[in-house]
Amino acid sequence: MMRAVWSAVWVAVSVWMLIGAAVGCASSASGGAGGSGRAARAGLGVGAVEEGFRREGRQPVVSIFEALDLPTPTERRLGSGAPGPGYWQQRVDYTIDARLNAEARSVSARVRVVYHNNSPDELDYMWLQLEQNLFRTDSIGTLQRTPGSVMKMLESDFDGGYTVTNLRSEGVGGQPLSMRVYDTLARVDLASPIPAGGRFEFSFDYEFVIPPHLRRMGAEEVEQGVIFELAQWFPHVCNYDDVNGWNTKPYLGSGEFYTNFGSFDVRITVPATHIVSATGVLQNPEEVLTEIQRERLRTALESDEPVRIVTRDEVGGAMVRPRTTGELTWHFKADDVRTFAWASSEAFLWDAVGVDVTDRDGTARRVLVQSFYPREATVWDMDHAGGGATRAGKHSIEFYSDFLWPYPYPVMSNINGPEGGMEYPMIVFCGSRENVDGMVGVTDHEIGHTWFPMIVNSDERRYMWQDEGFNTFINIYSLAAYRGEEPNVERHLRQAVEIASSVHPQPIMTEPDRMWSRWVGGLNYRKTGLGLYLLREKILGRERFDTAFGDYVRRWAFKHPQPSDFFRTMEDAAGADLAWFWRGWFLEAAQLDQAVAGVFREDGRTIVVLDNNARMVMPVFLRVTFKDGSVENLTLPVEIWSTTDRWRAVIDKSGREVRSVEIDPEGVLPDMDRSNNRWR
Ligand SMILES: [Zn+2]
Repeated sequence: MMRAVWSAVWVAVSVWMLIGAAVGCASSASGGAGGSGRAARAGLGVGAVEEGFRREGRQPVVSIFEALDLPTPTERRLGSGAPGPGYWQQRVDYTIDARLNAEARSVSARVRVVYHNNSPDELDYMWLQLEQNLFRTDSIGTLQRTPGSVMKMLESDFDGGYTVTNLRSEGVGGQPLSMRVYDTLARVDLASPIPAGGRFEFSFDYEFVIPPHLRRMGAEEVEQGVIFELAQWFPHVCNYDDVNGWNTKPYLGSGEFYTNFGSFDVRITVPATHIVSATGVLQNPEEVLTEIQRERLRTALESDEPVRIVTRDEVGGAMVRPRTTGELTWHFKADDVRTFAWASSEAFLWDAVGVDVTDRDGTARRVLVQSFYPREATVWDMDHAGGGATRAGKHSIEFYSDFLWPYPYPVMSNINGPEGGMEYPMIVFCGSRENVDGMVGVTDHEIGHTWFPMIVNSDERRYMWQDEGFNTFINIYSLAAYRGEEPNVERHLRQAVEIASSVHPQPIMTEPDRMWSRWVGGLNYRKTGLGLYLLREKILGRERFDTAFGDYVRRWAFKHPQPSDFFRTMEDAAGADLAWFWRGWFLEAAQLDQAVAGVFREDGRTIVVLDNNARMVMPVFLRVTFKDGSVENLTLPVEIWSTTDRWRAVIDKSGREVRSVEIDPEGVLPDMDRSNNRWR
């Protein structure tokens, strides 16, 4: 109603008179920063409206433009954001001999670990992660859970966790080791320190019962059997790094994992009726696959269209296994991976396709992309109208290899089972079974995680956004390409605004286990993804962003970047001061509200008065529509807000009459109040 009245008035009065009214109206509506109407009439012209003009009582102590308080650069992590000449990281190699007891739903294994201390430090103890201990009834994660939290089905009184035995050091002087367990962590004291540059070998046995709770792993009964998904399923060495020493954040359920790179040599013994898929390359196909399956796999690797390895008619039949009684041992090897996961079932249909990947040195090779799914996963089938899971996986490998970094491994497996969506190296779990968009979206997201955090190995337990958000960002483009549509950030935008509008917003930098579960997706995934999208599309531009983001991936591939390494690399490689963006978007929960306060004419020029009503700053994207029908798009740099919250800019010098002025006409900024974005 108010707008209609004012429009009528504006038609009747002169443009000059209109200015004071419009400015005064908008400013009182936005919090009463008075005086602007007088300033406009006094003819102060273009630029800041009084340097230091600030919204009353809302000046934060630190300007949003102030340089960030980042860690002091070192020879390990440079001021440019690159790893320095002194950069080091640990390496851990595992040999695991595991057995799945499908009846008892338990796993037992023997593990031998070779720990390579590449640090300059002597280590006289080490920490292990015992993530299955999350499923104990007295774990921190169990006791701190809240209704609706990410921990599903925890109402049962199941008491899980690892039983670890025979822990001992290996090699000359090998002896028993003792371990003190604290929740999901265990401290192991060493008889003699591991010297800088030294290595330490140890071994242990362990077992656990697969929890009925669903959290990144579990078992599910389907029509033709049980699907087991095993992840975070073995005690592993915590990451020791130059930033935190031993990373001993417990596993509470939300923060995923931060692990060492290394190699895995894993033997998995399962019922002979099962088919196993895992991180790594299968070493003994002649022992665990039939001749016809091996032949089909060879065909699939060379084929650009999916090939069935186990068909709908065959699954569950005796012909799909070399034998159907007793057990078979599947042997997998993987290098340069940050963990190992696997799946096992007698209910798997299986199809596969080959994908061309060209390495950075120009070497071309074929990657095998596979899908394993039960009969009831209808949209996974390669003949489904939606294209099936294998084609979706092929697209993701091709798209991200081209966009970021060549897919580095020989194989990728996508598993449909109990877990809704979870990523591991060379294997992902994707739960969507009957919804094409869900299957494609989750498949693309989980495979996208190959780049963040499987290749660029960030600390997920502290900084979920550094993999989830970066992945969500690249998913925007991959999904658009797969569907033949324009990139779509509507949902990202809606959630960013919803969180910023809430009574208690949290910043993206909040550790995931201290974040309200309802914000986990909105902040770590969508707001972060939208932030990078805006950096690319609206702030830096594609060329400048892609160069810098590419430098980040190249610098930190197969290494462990911190957030500061990312912030610094983007600024250094793009040649841009983005402190305002990192602070407002990531470090704080700053709100954005840009407004058109008014339009007036002075000395033959038409001038727009713009307000920045909240803490967040952004460039101003203006669309000016003139009464003669012409339209002009203008961008004002974010720096206009460095000394003021009110700005004037010339939008016309030729005497054209302005019909309307609109801020952010594409609607891509998370502006809290769009009602003040338009003047007409
Ligand atoms: Zn994810």
